[in-house]
Amino acid sequence: MPDRRSLTKMQRQPSAWTVLGLRDDDTDHTSIALTGLLDNLARIWPLAVAAQAIACVALLVIIAATRTPVDAAAAAIASAGTLLLSTGLWGALKYSGNGRLLPHTRNRIVTIVAAPLGACQLGLLWEGAMLSNQAMQSIAVVSAAGALGLTMFIIHQIRAAPLSLAIGITVILAILSSAWIAVGVAAMLVGCAAVATVHLARLDHAHAIQRAEQAREGSLAAKMIAEFETHGTGWFWESDRQGRLTYLSEKVAAELAEQGPPPVGALLTDVFRMDSATPGTERTLGFHISSRTSFSDYSVCSAYDLEASRWWSISGRPLIDEFGRFQGFIGSGSDLTSMRQSEAEITRLALFDSLTGLANRQRMRLSLEKTLTQHAGSFRPSSLFLMDLDRFKAINDTLGHQAGDMLLKLVAQRLERGVGSAGLVGRLGGDEFQVLLPGIDHAGTLSALAKDLIASLSQPYFISDTSVTIGCSIGVAVAPRDGEDAETLTRNADLALYAAKADGRGVHRFFSENMLEGARNRKRMEDDLRAAITSGGFHIAYQPVVCSNDERIVGYEALLRWEHPTLGMISPTEFIPVAEECGMIEAVGEWALRTACREAACWPHRVRVAVNVSPIQFANPNFPALVASALANSRLPADQLELEITEGVFLDKSRSTDEMFRSLKSLGVRLSLDDFGTGYSSLGYLRTAPFDKIKIDQSFVKGAARPGNRNAALIKAIVTLADTLGMETTAEGVEIQDEIELIRSLGCSHIQGFVYGEPADAEGVRRQLAETPKIKPMGHKISRAPRHKMLRSARFAIGKANGNVRIRNISITGAMIDGVYLDPRAIGTEVLIELVENEMTEARIAWASEGRAGIAFAENIDLDHVSQALANRHNRRSA
Ligand code: C2E
Ligand code: MG
Ligand code: MG
Repeated sequence: MPDRRSLTKMQRQPSAWTVLGLRDDDTDHTSIALTGLLDNLARIWPLAVAAQAIACVALLVIIAATRTPVDAAAAAIASAGTLLLSTGLWGALKYSGNGRLLPHTRNRIVTIVAAPLGACQLGLLWEGAMLSNQAMQSIAVVSAAGALGLTMFIIHQIRAAPLSLAIGITVILAILSSAWIAVGVAAMLVGCAAVATVHLARLDHAHAIQRAEQAREGSLAAKMIAEFETHGTGWFWESDRQGRLTYLSEKVAAELAEQGPPPVGALLTDVFRMDSATPGTERTLGFHISSRTSFSDYSVCSAYDLEASRWWSISGRPLIDEFGRFQGFIGSGSDLTSMRQSEAEITRLALFDSLTGLANRQRMRLSLEKTLTQHAGSFRPSSLFLMDLDRFKAINDTLGHQAGDMLLKLVAQRLERGVGSAGLVGRLGGDEFQVLLPGIDHAGTLSALAKDLIASLSQPYFISDTSVTIGCSIGVAVAPRDGEDAETLTRNADLALYAAKADGRGVHRFFSENMLEGARNRKRMEDDLRAAITSGGFHIAYQPVVCSNDERIVGYEALLRWEHPTLGMISPTEFIPVAEECGMIEAVGEWALRTACREAACWPHRVRVAVNVSPIQFANPNFPALVASALANSRLPADQLELEITEGVFLDKSRSTDEMFRSLKSLGVRLSLDDFGTGYSSLGYLRTAPFDKIKIDQSFVKGAARPGNRNAALIKAIVTLADTLGMETTAEGVEIQDEIELIRSLGCSHIQGFVYGEPADAEGVRRQLAETPKIKPMGHKISRAPRHKMLRSARFAIGKANGNVRIRNISITGAMIDGVYLDPRAIGTEVLIELVENEMTEARIAWASEGRAGIAFAENIDLDHVSQALANRHNRRSA
C-alpha cells in the first residue's frame, strides 16, 4: 500500500504518458496547450509533406537512372510509404480538429504515424547513401536528410512524436545495416532522447499549468475589477505624463460627462475641483501632478458641478516603468456623497432640535461661547433669555404627547417671529427655550421684548379642535455684567428664571446678585436639611381640629418643625419646597409620618392625626406600603390617620393617581384635600377622588367676617359643594373668635386655627386631651372696627318685609342685631335699618345664626351723629 507521502508525490508528479499528452488527465490546461500544438502542426504539416515529396521525387529519379530495378522498387516503396503516411497524417490532423477527437487521441495518432514515417524516410536516406556516384549521392542524401530533418523539426513540439520518429529510424537502421554497434549507439541515443523528451514534456506541462493559472487569475481579476467598477462605490483612473486622463471607470466618466465635456482626454485638474474645507488638502491636485508625487483621500467634485452635488475621494501615485521612467499617474476613487450627506445630517441632528427645527442646547452653547469670545476684544454686550412654559406639563398630560409636540412647534414659531433677526432662538429640551441676543443690553429694549414674547406665547393655541392657553416665565442675564462666560451667564439666567417663577410666573426677571445669594442660601439649606435628617433636628407640632358645633377636639394636624442650629426655627413653607427640589422630601415626609403615627398612638382619646403629604411622595408607587408600615409599627388604627393632599397632585393627571387613591383608601385611612381653592387645577377630580374632607384655605377665612367681604359667600359655596359630595369641611387659619361664629353659621363642620391656641408638642397634646376633650377659643374677638355696646330697638327692612330688631352693638362699619331669625341663605342680602329717626341706612347681612345677625353698612356711618340722634330721642321721650 502506498504511504501518504508517496500518494501526495504521485498526485503531484503526473506520469510520463500524461505529460507527453498520450493520456487524458482531465485537466483543461494540458488539453488546451496540446490542442494548440496539434492545430499548429496541422497548419504547417503541408510543408513537411512538400519537402518529403521533393525528396521522394529526387531520389526516385536518381535511383531509377543509376541503380537496379530492385533498388528502384525499394525506393519507390519507401517513397510511397512516406507520402501515404504523411498525407494521411495531414488528413487525420485536419479531420480530428475542432473538437472532433480529444487532443490526447490526436496526439496518439501523430505519435503512432511518426514511427513508420521515420522508418520510410530513413529507408530513402539509406538508398541515397548507397549511390556510388558521389554527385548523385550528395543530392539524394541532402534531399532525404533534409526532408527527414524538416519533418523532425516540424513535429518536435509534440514531444512524443519525434521520439516515436527516432524509434522508427533506429528500428529500420537495425534492419538495414545489420551493424549492431551502430544500432546499439542509435538505441542509446534514442534512450537519451526519450529521457530528455519526458523532461521537456514535464516542463511544458508545468508551464501549461502555470499559464492556465495565470490566465484564470487574470480573468478573475478582470471580472472583479469590472464588478467593483460597476456595482461598488469605487473606481479607477489613469493619466498620461501630462496629467490627461487616459482611463476612467465608466460609471464616473458617464456622471462627469453629464455636467461637462467627456473626461477621458482632459486634464485631471480640469475635470475635478477640490474641497478646500477638508483638512489636509492644502496642496492642490495640480501640484502633485507636476511634482509627480502621490496623494491620497482628496475630496473632489466635478469642476463643472457648481452645486457640488456629488463628491468623491481620490488617491493617486506616479506610475514608473521597469526602467525607472515616469509614465503618468494611476489611482482610485470612491464615492463620498452619501457619507457627506450623512455627515451633514449628523451635524444637523447634533445642532438642531428635531421637533421644532430650532437650535438645540449644543448649538445654543456653541453660539453663546462664540458670541462671548468675540466680545473679549470689543466688549460688545449680549443678552440671554431663559424661558420656561407655564402649565405645559398639564396640557401634555391631559391632551397627550402629540398635542404637546404640536404646542411646542407653535411656541417655536411664535418665538422665532417675535425675536426675528435680533437673535437666535433655541430649545434646550422639554418646555425650556433660550434666546441669545447679541449686541443688546439695554434694559428697556430687553424688557419690552420679554413682555412681547410672554404676551405672544400667552395667546390661545388651537390644537386638535381645542383652545389651550399656556404662560411663560423669562429669566434675563446680560453679558458681560452678569457673566463673561457661557456657563456663568446661563446659570444666572437660570436663577433669574427661578425668581420669575417664584414671583408668580408669566413675568420676566433680570438677574441680580441677591438671586445668587438666594441660591447659595438654598444650597446651604439643602446641606443643613441633609444633616438635620440624620441628627434629629425635626420635631412635630400638633394643631387641634375642632368640631364647630360643640368645640370638641376631633383631631390634630401634624406640622413639621425644624429648629436650625444657628438660624432658629425655619418655617416649613421655606424648607419643604427646598426638600422637594433636592429630592429629600421622601425621607423628611417618611420621618414625619412615622413620628406622627407613633406619637398619636399614645394619645388618651381616639382623636385623629392629620399628616401632610407632598405631591412628590404621593407620586411614589411605594407610598401606600410606607403608610401601611407606619400604621403597623405604631399600631395606630387606620381610620385615625388622615392624609392631607393638595391639589398639586392633580396637575400630574394620570392613571397612577387614581390607583394611588384606591390603594390608600383600601388601607382604611382618611383623605383630606388641603388648601382647597389655591391650586390651578380644575374641579373635575372631585368627581372621582375619594376625599373625606375639604380644608378651606385660610386665605378665604381671613377677613370673611369683615363687612363687604365676599369670602363668606365663597366659603358658603364650598361648604355646599362638600355637603353635596358627602365630605366634611374644615376652615383653616381661624384666628378671631368672630370668625368662629361666622364659620359655624356658614355650615363648616370643623375649625382649625390659632383661635384655639398655638400648635403644641405631643406631650402638650396628651395633657390637653387628658384635661378635657373640649377646647375654648382664646384668640382675639376683633376683626372689625371698635364696637359700642348698645341696647335699643330699630326699624329693619329686608325686601318687602319690615319689623323691629334690637341693636346689640354697633361700630362705624356694622352692627350686631338680634330678634331676627334669618336663613343662612340670606347672607349677602341687602337690608335697611333705621339708625337715626326717619333715616334708613343701607346694609348687607354678613352672618346670621340663632336669631342673631351681623350687618355691614354700605358706607361707614357717623357714630356721633347716631349717638346724638339717640340721645335726642331719649330726651324727647323722657320729656
Ligand atoms: P398647611 O397644611 O395648610 O398647614 C397649616 C398651616 O397654617 C400651618 O403652617 C399652620 O401653622 C398655619 N396655621 C394654622 N392656624 C393658623 C392661623 O390661625 N393663622 C395663620 N396665619 N396660620 C395658621 P406651617 O406649620 O408653617 O405649615 C405650612 C405648610 O407647610 C403646611 O400648610 C403644609 O403645607 C406644609 N407642611 C407642614 N408640615 C408638613 C409635613 O410634614 N409634610 C409636608 N409635605 N408639608 C408640611
Ligand atoms: Mg395641612
Ligand atoms: Mg392648609
